Amino acid sequence: TPSTKKSYKITLLPGDGIGPEVVSVAKDVLLLTGSLHGIKFEFQEKLLGGAAFDATGVPLPDDTLSFAKQSDAILLGAIGGYKWDKNEKHLKPETGLLQLREGLQVFANLRPATVFPQLVDASTLKREIAEGVDLMVVRELTGGIYFGKPRGFGTNEHGQEIGFNTEIYAAHEIDRIARVAFNIAQKRGGKLCSVDKANVLEASMLWRKRVTALAQEYPDVELSHMYVDNAAMQLIRYPKQFDTIVTNNIFGDILSDEASMITGSIGMLPSASLGDSGPGLFEPIHGSAPDIAGQDKANPFATVLSAAMLLKYGLGEAEAAERIESAVLETLNKGFRTADIYSAGTKLVGCKQLGEEILKSVESHV
Ligand code: ATP
Ligand code: MG
Repeated sequence: TPSTKKSYKITLLPGDGIGPEVVSVAKDVLLLTGSLHGIKFEFQEKLLGGAAFDATGVPLPDDTLSFAKQSDAILLGAIGGYKWDKNEKHLKPETGLLQLREGLQVFANLRPATVFPQLVDASTLKREIAEGVDLMVVRELTGGIYFGKPRGFGTNEHGQEIGFNTEIYAAHEIDRIARVAFNIAQKRGGKLCSVDKANVLEASMLWRKRVTALAQEYPDVELSHMYVDNAAMQLIRYPKQFDTIVTNNIFGDILSDEASMITGSIGMLPSASLGDSGPGLFEPIHGSAPDIAGQDKANPFATVLSAAMLLKYGLGEAEAAERIESAVLETLNKGFRTADIYSAGTKLVGCKQLGEEILKSVESHV
């Protein structure tokens, strides 16, 4: 659908560690790209994580959440660090991020795993298997066994200590995540693989039934099903068979980390978290990397690619998103690398300079 609104309010949450460094690059890239596509951005920086705790005493200030909710999209750097590791649980930076996700009701987590042709050798897999991998894991984020009740500790009939959790999925929860995934598959390669454990788990049986029924509404998407144990194996054996994968919270947690290792470069991978209505949350998959914070060594590509996802999935500005994606490829083609993706024969640069080079590529794009 073509976008009619051409001015967007963006909440920036730089966070901790390398967060501010990479968000600053992505902001400049958004500004320049916007100016070339007739899109205006109004940026507002807010506090989250350790930075918010230090300034206000809580990791998610009310002002941050209410502002974020009223904006069109949210771009996050990263949160956390050694400094706050001893905080009480409710004051940890990570708790602030969980509260933000809950407050925004983002139930769909999108994690692409792309093996960039220039970085094939970073993959944990052999070149011929890794080359050309471009898949998307769509993970259900707000339901399933991480949230199901009853849960807790207790005692069984033999007097032994037990711990227990419950996997619950309601039909509407499955339908809404499946719709997101079908829509994404439509825009990508037209193939959707639903991953479950329907041979053993009732929640998975319902999952498979609902996803299968919805497929009729998406005749242009080729749907397949796979058990999670097989999917874990197939991802390593021949990842190119996958285009879009949709799965529940716990399976998606595991498979998306597995998929990211196929690409081998944590500094290159973006993510998006979407709800039904309201703004999406866009962030790199890496953490705050306190070991390199403040040294201008961070790789900003993951956050720049998160900004591209913000345009594509958050604002419906696909053309502008593609311009950023092309600029990333072009910058890699020109040989510019931060230390984490450096190899002999390429040009080692810092975060800021890589940002400048990305801007040049955005500008010169044809
Ligand atoms: P979290 O628990 O917050 O998810 P983590 O502690 O598991 O994070 P990261 O903070 O992502 O892990 O860091 C893991 C390693 O990868 C560190 O050595 C870090 O320096 C490196 N790293 C992470 N992100 C980047 C980046 N954007 N550029 C360069 N190196 C990075
Ligand atoms: Mg960490």
